[in-house]
Amino acid sequence: MQIIINRHNFRYEMENIARMFFHSSTLEIKFDIYEPIGDYVLTEIRNNEIIIKVSVFGKTEQKTAQIISQNENDTEWQMAEMLYDCLCALSGKEQKWGLLTGVRPTRLVHRMIDDGKTIAEIRDKFINGYKVSEEKFRLLWQTAMAERPIISASKPQDFSLYLSIPFCPSRCNYCSFVSGSVEKMGNLIPEYVECLAKEIEDAAEVSKKAGLRLKTVYFGGGTPTTLSAEQLKFLMDKIESCFDLSCINEYTVEAGRPDTVTEEKLRTIKEMGADRISINPQTFNDDVLNAIGRRHTTEQTLKAYETARKIGFKTINMDLIAGLTSDSYESFCSSLDTAINLNPENITLHTLTVKRAANLAEDSQNTFLTGETPAEKMVGTSFEKFFSGGYSPYYMYRQKGTLSNLENVGYCKAGHEGYYNIYIMDEVQSIIALGAGAVTKLKAPHSEQISRIFNYKYPLEYLRGFENIINRKREVLKFFEKYPF
Ligand code: SF4
Repeated sequence: MQIIINRHNFRYEMENIARMFFHSSTLEIKFDIYEPIGDYVLTEIRNNEIIIKVSVFGKTEQKTAQIISQNENDTEWQMAEMLYDCLCALSGKEQKWGLLTGVRPTRLVHRMIDDGKTIAEIRDKFINGYKVSEEKFRLLWQTAMAERPIISASKPQDFSLYLSIPFCPSRCNYCSFVSGSVEKMGNLIPEYVECLAKEIEDAAEVSKKAGLRLKTVYFGGGTPTTLSAEQLKFLMDKIESCFDLSCINEYTVEAGRPDTVTEEKLRTIKEMGADRISINPQTFNDDVLNAIGRRHTTEQTLKAYETARKIGFKTINMDLIAGLTSDSYESFCSSLDTAINLNPENITLHTLTVKRAANLAEDSQNTFLTGETPAEKMVGTSFEKFFSGGYSPYYMYRQKGTLSNLENVGYCKAGHEGYYNIYIMDEVQSIIALGAGAVTKLKAPHSEQISRIFNYKYPLEYLRGFENIINRKREVLKFFEKYPF
């Protein structure tokens, strides 16, 4: 499929709109083609007119309109809307999120509320302006309302600490995270733990000097419970001795892969102060687990959950994924029912995202989406199931490459909102991130200014370039000198 850009600068937005309808890793961007052949999306500005022509599978749709504003952004939006309408007409399908392509749609809601817009005005903008479906607006509004008190309670000097453990027992086929299997990189773990402990000491010193106050701690990955109980204790001890934990409102350790969970590790995690863990089934269907290369069983998930419940964590999260390879609607619903019946405080429903880094990218096909997709059906059903199970949405985000342009949503029981998830997704406060692949995000206290500090991506690079990483963290001090509280 060719996306043709003739005489304008709106390539990025045109590509985004086209990608909503064509799930393909092979969209070709071409410039200045005036007599295209084959399947194409042509976008052009000529003599103060916008011309859109789409030709797919022998069907053609065309729209032409005068440019109505001299403002470039308005013209880009007009062109995007025309392209969207053409693609809807050809496919017979409206996108659930309409023209919205951004990662954080709730931020738009917060901005409008802060600007004094009424709920009626916000609703009108989303439904009639962005063409978002009623179903998604309802989800968006409820999520924004759950986030709002948590966002406004965050103070300028508050920050979160993220620790990356980029190791897993094996690599799942759909994974696009930076994570090495124990088989390939297990020998690096002891040195990695030592370096991470040093980075914890350094981050504590830097954050103290900057006048920051720790609010949440989050061990993510990879799979943190790939580490032994002793290694987890060593790192968590280090955090306790270096930071003041008296003001924190959440401490999470992801125990994502049930095949890494032991009672000893969970007890250690709990004793060291974590109150929230994540045990991630993704699906309760063993055949699907097998198809996605996730080497654990449903039995292991249930056992890990039972152990975590026995030990008494305040909040347990479970991740599920809609749209997994070889999963059916019925099997997905059964997984969802199983998760809801287990009654964890949080369930996060992801929709499968196929990125180039993941093995599944090779399976992605050049398809023109028409009618309701299986992933849309799964996610649509989940909304009602969560509500009747006593869950409500508390954070959400979208990603490029997600099936049917759907979203990822964290649902919770009342009072169990995951603070860290809201902080990071809504860019509420600074996140100091440690370890391989970690990205520190500094948020200026009284503006939306964000600055990032990147750690090396892979464990070996991290170990070899450790001194540089420590030096880069000096930027934290400079940032807060420039943007004082
Ligand atoms: S457990 Fe998670 S991080 Fe690890 S390989 Fe699987 S999807 Fe990736």
